Parts: sequence; C-alpha cells; structure tokens
Amino acid sequence: MSAKVILKPKRAQPFFGRHPWVFAGAIERVEGNPADGDEVELVSTAGNFVARGLFNSQSKINVRLYSWVEGVPLDRAFFRNRLESALRLRHDILKLNAPEAGYRVCFSESDFLSGMIVDRYGDWLTVQFTALGLAKRREMLVEVLRELLNPKGVYLRTEKGIGKLEGVELHDQLLWGEPPPSDLSIVENGLRIFVNLAEGQKTGYYLDQRDNRAAVAKLCTGKRVLDAFCYTGGFGLYAAKAGAAEVLGLDASEPALELARRNVQANGLSNISFECADVFHRLAELVAAGRQFEVVILDPPKFARNRAAVPEALKGYRRLHQLALKLLARNGVLVSCCCTGLIAMADLEDIIAQVSVEAKRELQILERRGSAPDHPVAVTCRETGYLKCIISWVL
Ligand code: SAH
Repeated sequence: MSAKVILKPKRAQPFFGRHPWVFAGAIERVEGNPADGDEVELVSTAGNFVARGLFNSQSKINVRLYSWVEGVPLDRAFFRNRLESALRLRHDILKLNAPEAGYRVCFSESDFLSGMIVDRYGDWLTVQFTALGLAKRREMLVEVLRELLNPKGVYLRTEKGIGKLEGVELHDQLLWGEPPPSDLSIVENGLRIFVNLAEGQKTGYYLDQRDNRAAVAKLCTGKRVLDAFCYTGGFGLYAAKAGAAEVLGLDASEPALELARRNVQANGLSNISFECADVFHRLAELVAAGRQFEVVILDPPKFARNRAAVPEALKGYRRLHQLALKLLARNGVLVSCCCTGLIAMADLEDIIAQVSVEAKRELQILERRGSAPDHPVAVTCRETGYLKCIISWVL
C-alpha cells in the first residue's frame, strides 16, 4: 500500500486535468509517512483516486505526478514505457535518429516525466535531474536509457540552484561508460557542430532552435546578417552556409566562441566572423558607427526566472529591439527569440509593435514559431512551451 496525499476540498481540478505539480498549499494531509522520493497516491477530499506521483517534502512541489491510471505502480516498467513513447516520437515520427544526430530524447513535463531531461549527442547522452524522486532512481533510469539507446557514455548535468530547490546533492559527472571526447560533434541539417557536453551551456547545445535556424537561413542568402547572442555559431553558421554576404556573430562567452570558430572551420565557411562582447553595449556601438544589416537575429538568454523579474526582463527585450531596428536596413528581416517562459508570445508581439511604431518602421510578422518538435508542449502543462521565435519583415 503506498502512502496517500489527500487534497484540500475544491483543489483537485488541476490534477484531474493532469497538471503534474502538486504544491503544498493544495494538500490537506499526508497519510502513511512517505519518505522523500517515495511513491504516493493522490486522492481527492472525497477519497477518489486522482493520480500517482513521487513525494518530496523538501520541494515546493510536494508531489510530482506521473500516472493517472489507478493501480499501476511507478516502477521500472512504467518509466521504460514512458521513455519508449518519447523515443517513438523522436525516432518513428520525427526521424531524428541519424548516427551523429543531436536531439532531445526526453523533455521533463513535456514527455510526462517531470524532472528528467535527456539529450542525445551522437553516441553520448546527457541527463539532467530536476526532481529528487527521479534523481534517486537514476541508476535504474540510466540502465533503461542504455537498453533503449545503446550509448557509449552517459553524462550528468546539473542546473544551478536545483540542489536547494529539491534537496538533492548532484554534481556534473560521468554517470556511466566512456567520457565524451573533446572533439565530440553532431551533424545538424548538414552542418557539423562541435559540442562540449561537460562544460557547455544547457546540456552543451541549444537543440530547441534547430528548426528556427533552418527557417531563418532561407532568408539570408546574399544578405548581411547580424547574429546577436550566437553561442557556438547557431543561426550565423546556417546563414553563412546559405550564402549570406557576411555574418557577424556576437556573444559574451569566449569558450562558446572558440567552438563557434571551430565550427566555421569544420564546415569550410569564410563569410562569418565573431566578436566577444556584451550585446547591449556592442549593438549601441554598431549603431553609432552607422552599421547596417539586412537580417538581425536576437536570441538572448532567459531574462526572468520569476514573476518579480518580468518587468525588468521586458525592458531588456525592448532595449534590444530598439537597437536592432536601428541596425536593420529598410526591407530587412528581424528575428526575435525569447526563451523566458513567463513572457508570452503576445507580450513579445506587443514589444515588437511598440518599438516599430516608435521607430516609424512598418513591420509585418511572417512567422510565429516555437521550439523544434523534440521539445513538445504537453497540453496539460502549457508551461512547457517556453520558446518563441517571431520572424518579421520590416520596411
Ligand atoms: N543563438 C544560440 C543560442 C543563444 S543562448 C544558438 O542558436 O545556439 C544565449 C547566449 O547569450 C549564450 O551563448 C550566452 O553566452 C549569451 N549571452 C548572455 N548574455 C549576454 C550578453 N549580455 N551579451 C552577449 N552575450 C550574452
């Protein structure tokens, strides 16, 4: 018999609606004294089964839900089944499993596995645990991943602050197999891209922008392109390969730019250069110098982690767009990316509208895009859709 978590009256609706996060405030009482990481049954005040999840008294999310089927334990077979279904999407439908491919195997709540992210980079996997319940089951989960994907190595990446939020001590390390080679690379849409999975940002690379890079590249042939926040080359490499007249990539991370230069060489490109700089500062300098581009790409990092930080974040996006419009030649393409989940597509559009009016530039949205489909949005947890990419045409 697993322990029971009983909900307060009138609090069960989101969980019958299959949202996976049960915060302490919704809970009336806990029966059966579960330890952190233990399986629990979530029941309504009337005593009806709602879902099964893993308990963690140390997290604000007291229970993370994984199954809405009564009587099915959250055991190895259950998790294997979830991972198999995540792989069915990536392999059978999206056809992402080429030998040197990079793709997201499993994306936490998006794949009904709250707190576990798995990326594949060729023969290596990176795993991130952001939930204690799954972190405790990591040996079993890595074993299942080995059965399903047969990697050469599995590397653990940790997100800053997660230890404190979940009460779990994890450190970046090799979990199984051989360490990744220092020249590990993937092939993405025909481009060779070096990835440092031990030290790179995120789990090494921004896989979520794959399709947006391809969509933007089509508009770059013969154009002068500015790729602001380029990381290891990203959009800029695609633009250069698509025959841009000239590409300038900007990023504040020198290690990222080292990989970017390596990527340029590996792909035999010559029409691209990089500068290590603070984008806000450098864009202002480029404006002062009278520089113009026909394509300007903005792909800044997440600007807000909580609601209190949103107003300041909006100011940042506004400032970037003001500078970008000054650098954008007439009849130019503006690419506005925003990975701050707390800022919605409509908020980003509001900023773009306001800034274009201020600048007296007519602007038309050509495409509203999200992340690549190996980062799906669970309809029962819409917070999983965080990435926005708006491609506009500016007169
Ligand atoms: N466009 C990239 C991903 C960008 S991620 C791609 O397609 O892969 C955001 C990047 O912004 C990171 O590489 C980070 O180093 C950089 N960054 C963050 N703050 C910055 C700043 N103020 N100026 C310049 N770069 C910054």
